Amino acid sequence: MLWIQDQGSATAAAAVPAPPPPLHLEVPDLDRARRCRLPDCRVGGDGRADCGALACPACGLSGWNLVCPDGFDGDWLVRCTCGFSWVRPEAA
Ligand SMILES: [Zn+2]
Ligand SMILES: [Zn+2]
Repeated sequence: MLWIQDQGSATAAAAVPAPPPPLHLEVPDLDRARRCRLPDCRVGGDGRADCGALACPACGLSGWNLVCPDGFDGDWLVRCTCGFSWVRPEAA
């Protein structure tokens, strides 16, 4: 005799928590990265770190890795070497 149990709760999807904002790292040179002077400085989703610096919301780096447009020609898209790009908070 075959018993089939009803796993009614199998479809309860686990809520995926949003990843915490990345730590702000300064990259003054190509092969160096250092923690921000501000303890536990995090980069918000708008690309603005707690210390006020412009940093990548995806990898947390700020420095040579970023290409920051000045808004000329309406280009406000900041590009990071990690492949992430976002609109500068000043333009929002
Ligand atoms: Zn910082
Ligand atoms: Zn990045």
